[in-house]
Amino acid sequence: MISYGKQSISKADIDAVVEVLKGDWLTQGSAVDKFENDLKNYFGAKHVCTVSNGTAALHLVGFALGWKHGDIILTSPITFLATANCIVYSGATPDFVDIDPVNYTIDPNRVEEKIKHYQSKGKKVKAIIGVDYAGHPCNWQALRELADKYDLQLVNDNCHALGSAYLNDKQYAVKYADFVTQSYHPVKHITTGEGGAIFTNDSNLDEEVRILRSHGMTKNPNLLEENNGPWYYEMHKVGYNYRITDFQCALGSSQLKRLNSFVEKRQMIAQKYDKWFSDSNIFKVPRVNESIEHSYHLYPLQIEFEKTGITKLEFFQKMKKSNINLQVHYIPVHLQPYYKKNYSYQSVELLISEIFYKNEISLPIYPELSHENQQYVKEMLLKYLGEK
Ligand SMILES: *Cc1c(COP(=O)(O)O)cnc(C)c1O
Repeated sequence: MISYGKQSISKADIDAVVEVLKGDWLTQGSAVDKFENDLKNYFGAKHVCTVSNGTAALHLVGFALGWKHGDIILTSPITFLATANCIVYSGATPDFVDIDPVNYTIDPNRVEEKIKHYQSKGKKVKAIIGVDYAGHPCNWQALRELADKYDLQLVNDNCHALGSAYLNDKQYAVKYADFVTQSYHPVKHITTGEGGAIFTNDSNLDEEVRILRSHGMTKNPNLLEENNGPWYYEMHKVGYNYRITDFQCALGSSQLKRLNSFVEKRQMIAQKYDKWFSDSNIFKVPRVNESIEHSYHLYPLQIEFEKTGITKLEFFQKMKKSNINLQVHYIPVHLQPYYKKNYSYQSVELLISEIFYKNEISLPIYPELSHENQQYVKEMLLKYLGEK
């Protein structure tokens, strides 16, 4: 079965994990510090706090930024559930802003309209979570300007964009957002099995998420109310156990060394899809803005099924019978029953996202996808869509 994404584990990756398993520390040892340092160097962040998964990373970010009941947080509906759920965890209200039809990330013009709309009702937006969807960075300059102009917090859910460049800079994420979150789930660019991290250049915010990662405990002498001895710790807030293990971090460090080659392979696969599907009037391939390097966590192809003799469902089923497991990224979050039941979102405000969902399929893209298999995907796709 050819699926839309798949991890790549090398002998060196396995050896790195085995090495830790033979040592004294399975968790809270030196491999965690090493992975955090490796991430700092690669992504140019002053502080990195690893956690148990990308959802935990988002949860702690909302906690550390003080989100609470009554706050309004904006994000894109074209994302994984976790981006919006982390707003709900905090008791704040999630609201969705439509995507830009060219790069499928949150549209800054519509963000500003939304902020002004709330202002006119005497309400203030607290934060924006931008999602670098599929590996195409948001318009971070515009989002940063809005955050400064309206005094908002800015978060980058960067799970798709490891190895992407914005304004020719691979270390862009933490330069624009107050917090950046990543996930190392096996379908993402690099994996630790389950895992995630929180990046920031603000030492206070970093301290906060570190304390929350481990039950809310601190031993930092500057924060203690008393200090009764070397065993002593205090708890000022209720935190969680969101730690990652040492053997996972050993895998992470080993995988990070391979990230550049992973991204290059994904880009080569994307170039072929671009070439095959650009000239047709039923397809729309993902476009890449100037000074951007797309890292292709996904290859979202839009297909105008009305112009073909087949529905999306039939197409999916036929591809599956041919051993090709496509996916759709994403069902717009505001259409989920939970969100429909608890909030009142207006489809007219989110039409671009809804149309995108109707047309989008994610083609297989991962480092070990062979040329022959990619060719096979193309042949089956064109066959079922009646293009050949
Ligand atoms: C994968 C993903 C998450 C959640 O990460 P987990 O590690 O699976 O919890 C959040 N946001 C986006 C955009 C993702 O792709």
